[in-house]
Amino acid sequence: MIDYHIHTIFSDGSGTHEEYLKAAIKNGVTEIGFSDHICFKEVEWTMKTSDMPIVIDKIQNMNKESAIPIKFGIELDFLPGFENETKEFIKSYPFDYVIGSVHHLDDWCFDSPKQVKGYEKWDIYELYVLYFDLVRKAARTGLFDIIAHPDVIKKFGHRPTKNIDDLLEETARALKEGDVCIDINTSGLIKPCKEIYPGKQLLEMCNNKGVPITFGSDSHLPARVGADFDYAAKLVKEAGYTKSAKFTGRKREFVEI
Ligand SMILES: [Zn+2]
Ligand SMILES: [Zn+2]
Repeated sequence: MIDYHIHTIFSDGSGTHEEYLKAAIKNGVTEIGFSDHICFKEVEWTMKTSDMPIVIDKIQNMNKESAIPIKFGIELDFLPGFENETKEFIKSYPFDYVIGSVHHLDDWCFDSPKQVKGYEKWDIYELYVLYFDLVRKAARTGLFDIIAHPDVIKKFGHRPTKNIDDLLEETARALKEGDVCIDINTSGLIKPCKEIYPGKQLLEMCNNKGVPITFGSDSHLPARVGADFDYAAKLVKEAGYTKSAKFTGRKREFVEI
């Protein structure tokens, strides 16, 4: 029970680090990692970089007395053209792991409930083509340890009618080539798509290619830490996984699920 995807009040979550830790222990989570958002575009849900030292101090201090390990992660938006800023940013802090996310297509934040109307302009298959292209690019940058919610384009229930087997297969290949983990993200279950990210098909392809996994609740509320992890564990085992990854100082090791 390792939950590496948690948002606090420093970005768009509604709990403090301390509240999350308490909830994690209560929910039987054995290790947590905080992963507040950093986005180099102007969005309301990003953390302020000036808060980074406060968060680092907080996590170091909490670790001294904590019953479970607390890791220092970050969820960074992958934005084409910002690779250098992203690289410099990552180098500047002692992260245990770095999660890369695709939330934007140009200036459209397709992940935001406030911008869901944007889907109306698109042929959904074409949109999937562009989205997965960005996921593959993010995987291959070598900047990230984990790719977040790898099929979040389905979040609001928009599904292409055309077959996407090849798109998913190419994506699984890129994830393997980029040597990144995928975030088994249970938050999709409470979104209109009502499904874990990634879906079964992509998950099986990733297992076949040897793409490692981590688990994340993508909690924005303390009560959701470790939410639906039993179900997630069952799904990944059905897809063939026996191990998940954990990180310390960006070094990866594997633990039995
Ligand atoms: Zn995200
Ligand atoms: Zn997130």
